[in-house]
Amino acid sequence: MALIVQKYGGTSVGNPERILNVARRVIATQAEGHQVVVVVSAMSGVTDSLIKLSREVSPNPSEREMDVLLATGEQTTIALTAMAIHGLGHKAVSLTGAQAGIVTSEVHTKAKISTITPERVHEELAGGNIVIVAGFQGETADGSITTLGRGGSDLTAIAIASAIKADLCQIFTDVDGVYTCDPRLVPSAKKIGEISYDEMLEMASSGSKVMQSRSVEFAKKFGVIFEVRSSFNQNPGTIVKEETDSMEAVVVRGVSIEKNQAKLTIANVPDKPGTAARIFTTVAAAGLIIDMIVQNVSVAGTTDISFTMSKDELEKAKAALAPIVIEVGASALHAQDGIAKLSIVGIGMRSHSGVAAKLFEALSAGGINIQMISTSEIKTAVIIEEGRIGEAAVLVHEAFGLGQ
Ligand code: ASP
Ligand code: MG
Repeated sequence: MALIVQKYGGTSVGNPERILNVARRVIATQAEGHQVVVVVSAMSGVTDSLIKLSREVSPNPSEREMDVLLATGEQTTIALTAMAIHGLGHKAVSLTGAQAGIVTSEVHTKAKISTITPERVHEELAGGNIVIVAGFQGETADGSITTLGRGGSDLTAIAIASAIKADLCQIFTDVDGVYTCDPRLVPSAKKIGEISYDEMLEMASSGSKVMQSRSVEFAKKFGVIFEVRSSFNQNPGTIVKEETDSMEAVVVRGVSIEKNQAKLTIANVPDKPGTAARIFTTVAAAGLIIDMIVQNVSVAGTTDISFTMSKDELEKAKAALAPIVIEVGASALHAQDGIAKLSIVGIGMRSHSGVAAKLFEALSAGGINIQMISTSEIKTAVIIEEGRIGEAAVLVHEAFGLGQ
């Protein structure tokens, strides 16, 4: 007998029929002789519509009340899931985050889990119940409802799995697992059997988001091994765990794509201490989230500084920086959208050489121009024209043998 945590996301519980599908799946798991804890999200679209509703009564709602409101989404799903299981003739009990013993910090809408005392979960399991826990929520030490940030049901599942020392944690979603690239762009993309926490985090931050990143960080910290798989079929998914030696033999685990990027270049910036600081404190003060930063080697006392961001941030960035260009004595501000980022990710990069060369060669074979390059220990990323991203993904995926 194993103790299993299964998490079902919003799409997997998106309508009554799908809730019944989840009910049947968890009953089948229990029937194999296991104890099952199920963590559910709000039905798809519910959290968004609750947020929208709040804005219709107040432009700036209190964050404490936001949490009281948003927690109702998951509370609806736990009750419906328990009812569905009862209707099929089996025992189940729903628990809110607080009832499951999840205590958090006081930062409403983005609370951090501080402790979990899952006595009630163990008791209900011992009574033969399938235990349904509301994802995304907890309570502060003095009893106020909190939520864990968007996508937070993933975190609930990982944290509960860690607290009850589950044998298995399965994250059920609407995709079959983590792929070597987006199969809509690269038809030969393959499901990855095993991936390390670090690769999963890098892939998520460069566009292949399957799960909330905080939950992957939590899993890494507490060594929770989990599987990402589909709730719509029985296919095995992707196992996410600490890296192993055999993982390092694979140079590139996957190719991530991020569209809708934009680039801002400040030309002929005087090359003296304090200029970059002046530019980027302005960027920070405007609340802009930026990605790659590149500064040229200075020739004749000036350099160009470029950085990328999501296309939606471009107008705001231009407005914030226009006065700074004049203040620091630069010559112009160039804005460009219609670009995209392609990243290759793999822990094997730390021990293999020639990875960047192979990436650049693949792009060059397609006549695709590289506009910017950045690297980290386990990632190499390039900015290219957005219109060619599909072609580039296919070439790079092929060059690293990922389709085989
Ligand atoms: N319902 C919450 C959200 O939409 C939490 C989750 O789905 O994981 O962000
Ligand atoms: Mg979700």
